[in-house]
Order: sequence, then C-alpha cells, then structure tokens
Amino acid sequence: MARLKRKRSGGGWHAIRYTLAKGREAGGIWKLYRAMRTKNACKTCALGMGGQRGGMVNELGHFPEVCKKSLQAMVADMQGAISPDFWKRFPVAQLKQFTPRELEHCGRLVTPVLYQQGESHYRPIPWSEAFQRITAKLKELSAEETFWYFSGRSSNEAGFLLQLFARLYGTNNVNNCSYYCHQASGVGLASITGSGTATLLLEDVENADVVFLIGGNPASNHPRLMRTLMQVRRQGGQVIVVNPVVETGLVNFKIPSDVRSLLFGSKIASQYVQVNIGGDMALLVGIAKRLDELGAVDEVFLTQHCQGWPEWAASIREARWEDLTAQSGVSRDQIDRLAEIYAGSKRAVFGWTMGITHHLNGVENVQAIGNLALMRGMVGKPGAGLMPIRGHSNVQGIGSVGVTPKLKEAIFTRLQDVLGVTLPTTPGLDTLACMEGATAGRQKLGFCLGGNLYGSNPDSQYADRALSNLDMLVQMNTTLNTGHAHGLAAETIILPVLARDEEPQPTTQESMFNYIRFSDGGPGRLDGPKSEIEVIATIARGVLGDNPHPIDWHAMGDAKQIRQAIAKIVPGFEPLSEIDRTKAEFQIDGRTFHQPRFATPDGKARLHVVSPPALVDAPNTLRLMTVRSEGQFNTVVYEDDDIYRGVQGRDVILLHPVDIERLGLNEQSKVTVESDTGSLPNIQVHRFDQIKPGNALMYYPEANVLVGREVDPHSRTPAFKNIVVRLRVEG
Ligand code: SF4
Repeated sequence: MARLKRKRSGGGWHAIRYTLAKGREAGGIWKLYRAMRTKNACKTCALGMGGQRGGMVNELGHFPEVCKKSLQAMVADMQGAISPDFWKRFPVAQLKQFTPRELEHCGRLVTPVLYQQGESHYRPIPWSEAFQRITAKLKELSAEETFWYFSGRSSNEAGFLLQLFARLYGTNNVNNCSYYCHQASGVGLASITGSGTATLLLEDVENADVVFLIGGNPASNHPRLMRTLMQVRRQGGQVIVVNPVVETGLVNFKIPSDVRSLLFGSKIASQYVQVNIGGDMALLVGIAKRLDELGAVDEVFLTQHCQGWPEWAASIREARWEDLTAQSGVSRDQIDRLAEIYAGSKRAVFGWTMGITHHLNGVENVQAIGNLALMRGMVGKPGAGLMPIRGHSNVQGIGSVGVTPKLKEAIFTRLQDVLGVTLPTTPGLDTLACMEGATAGRQKLGFCLGGNLYGSNPDSQYADRALSNLDMLVQMNTTLNTGHAHGLAAETIILPVLARDEEPQPTTQESMFNYIRFSDGGPGRLDGPKSEIEVIATIARGVLGDNPHPIDWHAMGDAKQIRQAIAKIVPGFEPLSEIDRTKAEFQIDGRTFHQPRFATPDGKARLHVVSPPALVDAPNTLRLMTVRSEGQFNTVVYEDDDIYRGVQGRDVILLHPVDIERLGLNEQSKVTVESDTGSLPNIQVHRFDQIKPGNALMYYPEANVLVGREVDPHSRTPAFKNIVVRLRVEG
C-alpha cells in the first residue's frame, strides 16, 4: 500500500484547493457557497457554526468560519438521488462488500426500502406501506420489546418528539449515540459541577493563557478550534497537547481565512506530550502532585468553593513518581515543566475528547481533569474552565431534550404535569444494553433516528448478530452506511429523511458551548425524503391514534408546537417559546460558570479521589486506539486517505519503527490483528514515527471488530481507545 506524503501543516492551500474541488463536486463553488451561507447550524461538529448569524459564522460572530468537515457533510447532502434500479443491481451481499466511503457516495436516499431476511435485495416500498408495516409491528409488540436509538445529528424537536412517543408508547429504552462517545464527560462533569456540559464559552477559550488539549485531534475533527488556539498563542498563551500521536494539525495549522497564518503557518502546541494510551490519568496525577509540591495550589478557592480537596491531596501525596512516569510514559522533567507552566497560569482551559472518554475509566479521567482545574481555581471564572469537545452538531441538544433512558427529575415531573400524561418508570436501557436485549430476544424492534448503530458498536460481529436477531429494524437516514448492509433484522426498513437545511420548518440545535441555534431549514433538494418530525408524528398517530388527548400527534407535527412544549418542560430552554417570533438564539441558563457557584446542592464543586489504572504492557502486544481519519466524521467516511498522517487507504495499522522491529515485522508486512474480542486479517503495517512506541492506531469503525464489550461502569461506554492486540504475520 503506497504511502502518502504526510502534510507538514494542517489547513493551508490544500484546504483551499479542497474547497474548490468540493465546489465542483457540488455543481459549482457559488452553489456550494450559497448552501453554506443559509441560516442553518453546521451539520457536522458541535463546536457550532451558522444559524441566524448566517452560515460560516461562529459564536463570536467571526466570518468566514468553514472547514473541510462542514463542506464534506454539505456536499454529501447535495448528492443526487440513489436511482431506482440501484436496489435491483446491488444485492445486500454486495452492499456488505462496499466500504463506508462507497456507501456514503451511493447518493441520497429518496424512497423507503425494505429488506427481508431470506431475500437477496432491498426493494423500494411506498411510504404508506412503510408506515403500515411499522405501526402494525409496534401494535403487535409490547413496548418493552422495543428500543429507540438517536443520533446527535437530529434536531431538538425531532429528538423530543420521538422520546415522547416512545415513552407514551410505554418504554424508557431510549438512548443516544453519546453512550458510545462523550457519556463519560456528562457523568464526570455532573459529579464535579452538578452540570454535565462545558462550563465556559468560546470566548473564554480565546481569553485563556493556558489551554490543555487532551486525547483528541480537533485539527481534523473540529478544525475551526484551531483559529481559537492560534489566537491563544498569538496572545502569548500556551497550548499543551496531550496525545500518544504527534498530530500534524496540532503542531502547525495554516488558517486559510488568516493571511499571515496561511502564508507562514501558526504554531499550535507549545508543549506536546506523548502519553501512553491509558496513561492520561497518571500524567494528570503527576501534574497535580508536582503542583502540590510547588505549593501552587489555590487553598482559599478549594476551601471556600470545593469539597474533597483533603482526600485528593492525601491521594496525590501517596502516589509514587516511578509509577506515574512509568504509567504515563512521560518523564519527570516534562511533568515538572507542565506543572510550572500551569502554576503560572491565570486563566486555564481544559479541553478533551474521546482519548479521555473511550476508556474503562473514562469518567474517572474526566474527574482527574476536574481535580487539576479546581486545584488552581480554574472553574467558575471567565477565561477558564472545563470543555468536553463534543462530536455531532446536536449531540448535546438531543441529551438536553430528554433522550436518555432515565429522564432528569425536573423533565420527568414537568412532562407529566404540562402534558397531563403518565410516564413509564422502568429503568430503561442504554445502547449496549439494547444490544444485549436484542441478542437475548428481549427486544424485538429497534428504531434508529439517524446514525449508524451497527457501525458505532464495539465487537462488530456481536452487533451484527444482535441486530440480525430483531424482528424489525427501522432506520431514518439521508445516505447509506454500513448499518444498512450489516446487522439486518428479519425486516429492515430504511426511511429517507430531509437534511437540516431542507427542513420545511425551522429546527433548533445546541452547541457544545450550550448555545441554542435556530435553523431556518430550506427547500428540499430531491422528491421523496420526508422531515424527521413528519415521519415521527405519522407513526405516533398510527400507533397511539388520532385522539388529541392527552397528545394531539397531528398538532405535534408542527415544530412550533414542539418548541412550546420543550420551553415549558426542559430547564433553561424557556426562551424557545418566543424564538419563532424573535429568532433570538440564546445561551442556556445555569450551565456557564463565570462565578464559583456550581449546580450542586451546596453550590460547591467536587474533587474525587481517583487513581491511575495499571498500564497493560505484555510482551508481543500493543495498546491500540481506534481513531477517525482526516477524511471522516464519526462513522461517516468521505475520503479513504488520511492526508495529515500520510496514510493511503484504511486497512492499516500504524506502528512506530521501534515496534515494527520489536515484533519482527517490516513495512511490507501484512498481519492479522487479534484482540480478545475479534481479529482483522490482511492489515498492512504502516511505519508511523509520530506515534509513541508501544502504542498503535487503526481506523474506526472498521477496527471495532477488535473492541470488547466491557464498559466503564459509570458511563457504560466501551474502551474504543484502549485495546490490547497481538499481530500475526500472514503468508
Ligand atoms: S469546526 Fe465544526 S462546527 Fe465549525 S465548520 Fe467545522 S464542522 Fe462545522
């Protein structure tokens, strides 16, 4: 497999050429520009762009703010329709051979299609038949025999409406894609501040003098954050990157919309710390221990505004340096240097992504970050705070409007009081529990609002068997993905839906900074797809009837009505009641902490005693993490090449030359990668000097075959980023 010349900087002229190429693909750069400028929230990541300020405008009102990810998502929605004969030409057996990229590029779904086990092909069916089959099945089953999975790409209105229908149908088996990504952030933050989301605003990050970026590669997954980090550096601030891999765009990034940066590049990381996979907490404990040794702890803040410092202090003082440096893989000198930098900071921000949450101790990793921030009073003031860098553009909104098995007390009570309904009180199932229930035959129907449930699961073979064991699987999507070829139930129905900027009614989304955007929607590009809201309201009416009491599902097909309900029911969303008139987007109240008064019963933040897990370091093994490439967003693969890592194709394992030699391999070796869960044959060894020896990297979701179903007990999230693997040379 050929090597690509690895880029020396992110963004730059390449990004500009890429934009022009995407413009051609979309039918012209102006056509693409106009689509990008509509008043709709960006469809890709949760950093947040667009809305009423106009597309390509960020929360600070800065324009142009656009990135490859936003262009990839838009151009994918601007594809033509999947042709009717496609379903005759390609049997499911062949669709199973398609790569994620090939499926994504088949075109837009425009007609409902049905696949029945024993058949060879999907076949188009009319909407009326699709609705009839789904409502008949739901009426046949008991509610507890069903589960409801939501992607973070859908709107607040569609999310609220579907969770309401599922509960009034009789089940709490309601969950969303964050169970497999940032759930640990929500659980961890709630245990620290009493609120499960970022404690700050984008402007706080711009005003920080130190930014820790832990366990992520936003240069590829949240590219516009690079402008903010460039600003921090230009203001003399420090950016401390903690990652097993030296990621191109986190070293240097050329911001295309900044002439100086475009011409000369912008240094991002001022300190780059290559930690072992699973070694983050040992590093965090090390910095905390050194901070304590330096006497650089804000005792007043800890005493007045926190609980738990004495216990945490005792635990870091007990920790042994030789353990911390061995587990983290970071030298004492470098840890001391990081502690000194942090000790000199006046306003520090801690940002993290799934390199922190995709571990069996994900929640404790978040708590360790919280501890370090609180030790210097860096939560509860401007220019400082905690920032989970979230995935899908509305993953936080979907959680806020009630898409979790167990509703928050306030939402549960208000839902019953405001709507005059009685809700089920069963515990409900999270995502993995739904897979276990499907395997055991307890759940017989799965309903997916967007996303790729099969693809995002750990242990792909298990997920395939679980979903294939269902009587019915319903999936609402805009394009094809691996979940439409694998894990197909006795009856699988795909329902084509409109994209956010094709919605006939405005919808809303919530960014990772707790900011609510009002997306205008727009004209449909193709005949056939329906709005998610219309599909949900139609099925609800079909199952629960047309009687307007207690819920008039006909009226609830109107997004305005849904917003009125959300405004009365979800704390902080009250301004939604006026937004159709005012179009005034808003910051959700009670989530941004610029004062050291937190959302806990006593208003104090919490420190937690956590300790680093043992580092897995067995002979002839590697610690593997699954990652997204530059050419993908979550499970959606737009391009097979990973230009920032210099990788062509996706059937590769990236190894440091020391490990290639240690394992008796070479750069031509083909191997079978094995874990305790599964194996992947025919994998090309790829020399990658930028990864820390002892650690390896493969692409998600293909490598999920290797990921076990063991989960963090607090977040129920699998360890997609810490798998012990062995390599068996082929041939
Ligand atoms: S950084 Fe995220 S929100 Fe901003 S344009 Fe890119 S994908 Fe959209």
